Amino acid sequence: RFITLEGTDGVGKSTQAALLADALEARGLEVVRLREPGGTALGERVRALLLEPTEEPVSPIAELLLFEASRAQLVARVIEPALACGAWVVCDRFYDSTTAYQQGGRGLDAALVVRANALGSCGLAPDLTLVLDMDPALAFARGVAGAEPDRMEAEGLAFERAVADAYRALAVAEPARVALVNAAGTPEQVHERVAAVLRERGLD
Ligand code: C5P
Repeated sequence: RFITLEGTDGVGKSTQAALLADALEARGLEVVRLREPGGTALGERVRALLLEPTEEPVSPIAELLLFEASRAQLVARVIEPALACGAWVVCDRFYDSTTAYQQGGRGLDAALVVRANALGSCGLAPDLTLVLDMDPALAFARGVAGAEPDRMEAEGLAFERAVADAYRALAVAEPARVALVNAAGTPEQVHERVAAVLRERGLD
């Protein structure tokens, strides 16, 4: 099974990915924990390139292709082999991030992003995608508090709002795969909502 977590910056994706992976392991399942961009040697280098603040503005298409390059490496080298061995894969972000950020946030053409995602994901789709949803203003303040913002986070709140709207639209467009989860509350409360979605969908 392949499960992805999505949401705007600071919404608690990494915490929830870890809690979900812990819960699956507690049931005796083999779980591979991944994050995107990253998760492979090549992908971590691409991640660093993408997140470093740069003097030269990054072209939205160049940015799109770097995310897809990291994704293709992750799918080919890690996700497909893990799924073939019967492991569960829990991934912090996948191609819905590209739809939300590069299409919703940057305004790239929807058809172009669909094609790029098909290429980067090698046609692989998650069995379930959990979109952690909360007011982007609260999430953003939490996520960047005390830390230097990376190149994406430096885009600011209007950008995060456009991204959050794109995620909500995805949950409406693809309800069979994408579930919106209220991300307000303690990590344990949010994890309980995540676990409830898995139960409802027969993934437990
Ligand atoms: O969530 P994480 O910190 O791993 O994401 C790295 C950064 O890359 C975030 O600031 C996120 O907004 C950005 N991102 C993006 N487009 C994607 C995936 C992530 O702009 N497709």
